[in-house]
Amino acid sequence: MNLAELMERFSTVEAARAYLEAQRWPEGPECPHCGLVGEAYKITPKPREIVTEYQTKSELKARRNRKPRQGLWKCAGCRKPFTVTVGTIFEDSHIPLNKWVIAVHLLCASKKGMSAHQLHRMLGVTYKTAWFMAHRIRYGMSQEPLASQLTGVVEADETYIGGKRRHSQSHVKKYGQREQDRIGPVADKAAVFSVLQRDGRVKSTHLDRVLGSTLRQAIREVCAPDAHVITDDARLYNGLHHDRKHSTINHSDKKYVRWEDGVCVTTNTVEGFFSLLKRGIDGTYHHVSRQHLHRYLSEFDFRYNARKMTDSDRREVALQGFNGKRLMLHDPIGKTEKPS
Ligand SMILES: [Zn+2]
Repeated sequence: MNLAELMERFSTVEAARAYLEAQRWPEGPECPHCGLVGEAYKITPKPREIVTEYQTKSELKARRNRKPRQGLWKCAGCRKPFTVTVGTIFEDSHIPLNKWVIAVHLLCASKKGMSAHQLHRMLGVTYKTAWFMAHRIRYGMSQEPLASQLTGVVEADETYIGGKRRHSQSHVKKYGQREQDRIGPVADKAAVFSVLQRDGRVKSTHLDRVLGSTLRQAIREVCAPDAHVITDDARLYNGLHHDRKHSTINHSDKKYVRWEDGVCVTTNTVEGFFSLLKRGIDGTYHHVSRQHLHRYLSEFDFRYNARKMTDSDRREVALQGFNGKRLMLHDPIGKTEKPS
């Protein structure tokens, strides 16, 4: 589906709602309260009768402004009302549903992401709204924990996000300065650790501290016990062979590919993912704060994992992942969700 077709298909809220209903409920509407499938019927709420007696002015105003709930279903089992957005990131949102679907498509289809400012201009919503939409969609794309562990040949590597260091910080050791006072090349940068199954999925995490123990812990969580882990020759990975089958490629010797028992020992695939991530963060988002980095990682992981699909298929996979991911009003971007 190209942009022209997308705009035509989702030109109205009703079209977007019908699309979401068909997506979420292929076997008829499913009640989120009791789980009954295909037994609900559509209802149209009556417009409220406004009784002028016993009501204050502000109450009257609030009632007059309240629109009847659109796309309402009523369960024949538990007699409770619900809509297609209940229990998803769209619940309780006042943003028109077609703008939501278009935003999801744009984020799924742009290889290096899309900034909140661009969404704001393209969708005709305020910048603040666009920022919240993008973060909600990122939250919907997150997969915590992974559906299944990574198997086979798995590449693992770490990278540092945070741009170039300023010139004002001297690289030269001054007289009387201790070795540990000199600022290293990765000081003050955020560490990202990615584990990638060759021809498969990737899982990235933001690490507070890069230690051998935290990297091993991350690999234990993500990789199956019989996986073959390939890393570079950094000393951080020294203890890894206790947990998993482990091969290294000697980057400090300027070697990047070698063969061992018919397995290509290289970390070039995960480096390729890093280059995409870095180009997205440098070129699209410019600045990503530590606090939100793991959300952006979810977004890039999601797009990478669905890289072989068409843009429309990727959008559908994203929408399916939104079920059961409600965000509360007091926590609009899932702040209480534990950063990974
Ligand atoms: Zn029900």
